[in-house]
Amino acid sequence: MLESVNDDWKRIHTSTLSRASLQSIAKASIGETLTGRLIQAVAQNVRKDVSQVVAEAAKYARRTRSSKITMDHLLFALEELNISLDLLHVNYAKPDPIEADKPISKPPIKKSSINRVSRKYSKIRKREREEQYEPYDSNAPLEERKRWLKRERVLLMSNKRFPLSKEQQELYLVITEACMGSSESARREALQSLRTDSSLQPMLYRLSLFICEAIKVNVAQQNFALLIYLMRMVQNLLANPHLQLHNYLHLLVPSLLSCAVTRQLCPFPKAQDQLAVREYATTVMADLIRAYGYLGNDILSRVISVYKTGLKSSILMTIYGSLIGLGKMEVQGSNDAGARSKENGPKERKRKRCPSYKIVEDTTFVVDGFQFGDIPNATHYFLSHYHADHYVGLTRKFAHPLYMSPITAKLVRTFIPIDNQYMHEIDVGESITLNEVEITALDANHCPGAIMLMFKFTTGKCILHTGDFRATFEMESLPIFWNEPRIDVLYLDTTYLSKNYDFCLQSDSIDRICTAVRQFHEKNADKRILHVCGSYLIGKEKVWLALVEEFRLRVWTEPHRRKAIDCLDWPELQLSLCDDPLEANLHVINMGKISYPSLDQYFKTFEGHYDMLIGIRPSGWEKNSKPSYGKRISVIGVEYSEHSSYKELERFVRFLKPNKVISTVPVGKDLCVTGTVPTNWYKYEGCGSMLSTSYQPSITTFLETSKRSFPALANTSSDMSVSPLKNESTINTANNEDLFEAKQITEDSANVNVPAAHHLPAKRITSDASSDLLSLI
Ligand SMILES: [Zn+2]
Repeated sequence: MLESVNDDWKRIHTSTLSRASLQSIAKASIGETLTGRLIQAVAQNVRKDVSQVVAEAAKYARRTRSSKITMDHLLFALEELNISLDLLHVNYAKPDPIEADKPISKPPIKKSSINRVSRKYSKIRKREREEQYEPYDSNAPLEERKRWLKRERVLLMSNKRFPLSKEQQELYLVITEACMGSSESARREALQSLRTDSSLQPMLYRLSLFICEAIKVNVAQQNFALLIYLMRMVQNLLANPHLQLHNYLHLLVPSLLSCAVTRQLCPFPKAQDQLAVREYATTVMADLIRAYGYLGNDILSRVISVYKTGLKSSILMTIYGSLIGLGKMEVQGSNDAGARSKENGPKERKRKRCPSYKIVEDTTFVVDGFQFGDIPNATHYFLSHYHADHYVGLTRKFAHPLYMSPITAKLVRTFIPIDNQYMHEIDVGESITLNEVEITALDANHCPGAIMLMFKFTTGKCILHTGDFRATFEMESLPIFWNEPRIDVLYLDTTYLSKNYDFCLQSDSIDRICTAVRQFHEKNADKRILHVCGSYLIGKEKVWLALVEEFRLRVWTEPHRRKAIDCLDWPELQLSLCDDPLEANLHVINMGKISYPSLDQYFKTFEGHYDMLIGIRPSGWEKNSKPSYGKRISVIGVEYSEHSSYKELERFVRFLKPNKVISTVPVGKDLCVTGTVPTNWYKYEGCGSMLSTSYQPSITTFLETSKRSFPALANTSSDMSVSPLKNESTINTANNEDLFEAKQITEDSANVNVPAAHHLPAKRITSDASSDLLSLI
């Protein structure tokens, strides 16, 4: 068909279709002659599709080292682009007799339709192969097409498509259905996904379009409840720190303004609901401007002019919406300290108000609160771990005493080199005293360097701040929890405070990942496979290290993550790394890139070296996600959480029985609004009910786990791993007050290497705690 793929690709880029060609195409496909404007309209559509198909086919031709585009390449291209085969119905591609009457150009949303379409394509492809089809030499329409290709000049317009993987299409369906459905719990789940999921960026166009269309319909139908749900979707998308909505404001802004100032919502009989809708719309609009109004896009001035026009309306409700809207702008304006210059943009924005949970009760200590400027009276700052949502706001100009683990300190020195005089380290198991408060760092079982902080006051008051953490049974055996009489306040990571998030252990998750990858290898034994694992700057190392060990892979990662790994003092990670991505068969890249479209793009660089790519998404949000296997790209999502599951949280809180629990995870855009932990987890009578009866079976697990994992824990050289449960007979004689002194514990555990008993001042398990302990045994 083409003499040279590259030459023709260039020619197609610079050519345009003639009427004669279109007429001959029309005649060949539908047997009719087109004229006038109709032909122009057809030209618009046809040249987009045709040029895109040829471009895609040319890519396949190049990949297969073929100098000509064959029918197979075109069919692959059609399948890839999901374009109807109708374009090729020119005698030689016989229509499928069964499916011929079914339209297939509709965007595939439902899984069943995807399967049907792909089955159809594969059926046709198979038939073509079986017939040993030689398309371009022998028959007349082909000659026609050949002449057309040689003659035409097509001016390519950018034809942006937003392909979603099957997985994403399903997620899109689940989210939109849940957001608009009748189940409040499902809606809450879906909104939480919108607020926190880092993989939604490729779906944003579809989501914004959905919101825009749905608002149009529901404004007309006056469905106030649904309008509120839709605006909640926008609000949650806005709150998601992983997403950029810039490109979709043209859909969202008019929709929100419609809700605020529309004439279509009549004032009666549901005036109250309508006022609520209008007010909510203006609130979300103000949030949106707060987030995106400074990029030189004139959103602020445009919105204000809409509100001003609304004020002149004769419809009372439109005036109301405009007034409220301007009122919110006023708040916005005053928040932003007057007119904000475009050049300075974000820098001019006023600092957010510091939520109370960032400041440790009855202290001048701030934990993970750097985005609020100089907090009045704050004397010491703590960084629990090096994840962006915790260090956000920390800059090299920071000038207060800052405490963190040595690993976190290394990361800070590498990426945000603040003045060394402010850097202070506190390692797991160590204690320091500041303002007469003794502060001990505990392992948070989150990412490398993550710590929990225990604050003990001279008055006996005790506060535990978990930072981000994944609760384990082993934590329950930390002596500090047994030796403190009572935790007064627990600052808790409630990322997964929902019954639906019941994760398996990390080790089980890793087993599942290895099994999935092994099966993939077995299925594709003759193929060269590139593995790509998602990660944050730090975190998920255990997953890719397991893959390295199981399948003897070499790892490459992006330079900034490489720098971060260098800070972790983790020799196994270092040994597995190499500098050249072409030498590595496991790439560790940003979690956000583990989606079909991104990986498809990513793989283009490595196609000469590998036949297939398997993307792995280890995340708590992947619970119940299904793998998608393709010819080139496959993506598997496996639940792997570095935060506590709902049950783990419940068990941990019931174990600690604090007087008060404060969640540190905001549930929406407003940082001050955080989750609420069920009070029955910690407010109960008597020691016997420390763990509910439903937990009885796991108490056994708890005891066994503590004992079984003892030698392993000892390897960490941390005295914090010493369990007071190491010796049951000891516990049964707990009336000897000295028995539980840390020193004694050290001596008793002859097989345990506990180097730093002095870190734990002599303490004892109180009668309260020991009776709990006895009740367990
Ligand atoms: Zn974190």
